[in-house]
Parts: sequence; structure tokens; C-alpha cells
Amino acid sequence: MDKELILKTKFVLDEEIKNLTTYKNAGTVSGAFYPKNQKELINVYKFLTKYHFPFIIIGNGSNLLIDDKSPLFVLSTKCLEHKISIKNNILSVSSSTNLYEVYNFCSKKSLTGFEKLAGIPATVGGAIKNNASAFGQSIFDCLTSIKIVDRGKIKTISKDEINYFYHGTNLKNILILSANFQLKHLNKCEILNNYINCMKIRKQNQPSFLCCGSVFKNPPNCKSAGVLIERCRLKGIAINDAQISQKHANFIVNNCNASFDDIYNLITLCKRKVFFKFGVKLEEEVEIISKNLKKSHF
Ligand SMILES: Cc1cc2nc3c(=O)[nH]c(=O)nc-3n(C[C@H](O)[C@H](O)[C@H](O)COP(=O)(O)OP(=O)(O)OC[C@H]3O[C@@H](n4cnc5c(N)ncnc54)[C@H](O)[C@@H]3O)c2cc1C
Repeated sequence: MDKELILKTKFVLDEEIKNLTTYKNAGTVSGAFYPKNQKELINVYKFLTKYHFPFIIIGNGSNLLIDDKSPLFVLSTKCLEHKISIKNNILSVSSSTNLYEVYNFCSKKSLTGFEKLAGIPATVGGAIKNNASAFGQSIFDCLTSIKIVDRGKIKTISKDEINYFYHGTNLKNILILSANFQLKHLNKCEILNNYINCMKIRKQNQPSFLCCGSVFKNPPNCKSAGVLIERCRLKGIAINDAQISQKHANFIVNNCNASFDDIYNLITLCKRKVFFKFGVKLEEEVEIISKNLKKSHF
């Protein structure tokens, strides 16, 4: 770890959460690091790990609800270069690259694998950690390996070494640097049509307000989480500026100034009502970062 390099890395004390997540809830974290290259990224990661700072890596922050009352440092991948290259049909992508950029690159080369994922506002790192999927396409479908930093060591692990399941993986406490994908060829028009159809469905069914996508996972052997919440007549219910979307009950939106508590209390209300009415325990898909809660990053 290089202490001088830490001092050179962009750091914002008391960074506002609205600059870090798509929920943009009120409040601040203790501070956020914005490394501009891989050397700085690895160095900050080693620094935060070595001194046991409470911290989280953030890509686009599109699946995170952060409690502003918890001490927390952030390692953001926002200012890193986005790199995509292809050699012998293997696509290599840096973890900070957006899924839409990967789709765009692939579609020009008639490569299929990202067109249904392109509407997810995720970085490749966040998408792999969460096993992002949409319309029957998953980031793991074409993944072959990832380059990571694990306990201070850079290594490459193959897809077979990763335990991945519905919207989750066992990739905890590691930093994803890049990923390799093996993609198949498909007609450009078909790729474009798939992309357009998926985007149309998103536009029709999902709110365009500040949110984190689906709040709850769909319970196994059951109707969708959204249908259960809707049947509890919770659609449109609000706590201050946090509201259960009128368009889709599995989305909680921030109408402008919602706090962590406003959103969290709505999550709790949904869980309680659905359990009372249907006996179904809803499990959060959104990752809640709070030291005050049992099931959180801390
Ligand atoms: C409008 C909207 C629609 C959505 N639709 C979908 C959908 O269709 N399907 C779906 O699966 N999800 C969906 N999501 C949820 C979200 O986009 C995904 O969970 C996505 O994978 C998160 O990516 P991110 O880059 O924003 O990660 P973040 O939210 O920043 O982080 C998510 C997790 O990944 C970790 N992480 C991020 N980068 C790295 C890295 N480089 N190394 C190690 N760990 C890292 C973080 O620590 C955190 O644990 C949606 C969200 C929104 C707002």
C-alpha cells in the first residue's frame, strides 16, 4: 500500500448520498474515494481493508439504500476508465464500464449477450456481484472469468469457481477489476430488435423516478412480489417523499427528498402487510447498508 498515492486520490469528505446512489436519499456518508485508475483503486482498497474502515465499493449505486446515520466510507468506481476490448472472440471489460456501453460495443460487432441487459443501469462489477439478469438473459450466461483483488492478491477466477444464484453471488469482500466474456454472433437486426423490445417493456412497466429497481426478490413458488404488495392495497402509499410506485408496486420511489428512514419504513410496511395477508416473507433485493440493521453490509 502506497500512502502517498492515497493522498493523491480524489477524496470527498462527508460526500452526499445523492452523488452515490440512484435512490439519491438525503444525508451523507463519512467520505468517498474516487480513484482515477486501477493503481489508485487497488491502493485505496488495500488501505481501507488494512485499517478495517467500514466501507463499500460502489459502481452506479443502482441497488443500494444507504443509511446516513452509519459511519461509512465509499470506494467509487465512477471516475475509472471504461475499457472494452476483444481478442479471439473473448471480450474483456473493466468493472466500471456500464452494461449499456458493453451492449453498444457488442451490437456493432454483431455479438449477442448484452442486449436484454442493456436497460439495467449497472456497471459490469455491480452486475456480476449481483448476478444481474433481465428478460431471461443473465450476466453469467457469457461470463468466463473475472480478475479480482482478494485479501491483497490479484487473481483471476473462472466462472466455475463462483457460486451464483438468483440475483446474488458469493463474491463478498473482494474487488472486481475486470471480466471476460465469450459471446456468440447474431444478426445485427435481431440484436437491435431484442434491445428495443426490452426497453419498451421497461418503459411501460417501470417508473422513471429515483429508485433502485425491484425492492424485493420474487418469492419462490409464488406470485411476483409486486402483485402481493398490490393486493395489500399499498400501491401509491407514501411516507413523506418515499412512495410505493403507482406504476409497479415492487418499486419504491424517491419523489425528491426522501430519507433513508422514509424508504426503509415503507419496506418494513410492505413486508409486514404481505406476511399478515399471505404468510409470505419478502426478501429484499435492494442492499441495505446500515450498521443498525442485522441483515446489512456491516
Ligand atoms: C431503474 C432500475 C432498473 C433495474 N433493473 C434491473 C433488472 O432488470 N435486473 C437486475 O438484475 N437488476 C436491476 N436493477 C438493480 C441494479 O441495477 C443491479 O443490481 C445492478 O447489478 C447493480 O449494479 P451497480 O453497478 O449499480 O452496483 P451497485 O449498486 O453500486 O453495487 C451493488 C453491489 O455490487 C458491489 N460492487 C459494485 N462494483 C463492484 C466492484 N467493482 N467490485 C466488487 N463489488 C462491487 C457493491 O459493493 C454492492 O454490493 C435495476 C435498478 C434500477 C435503478
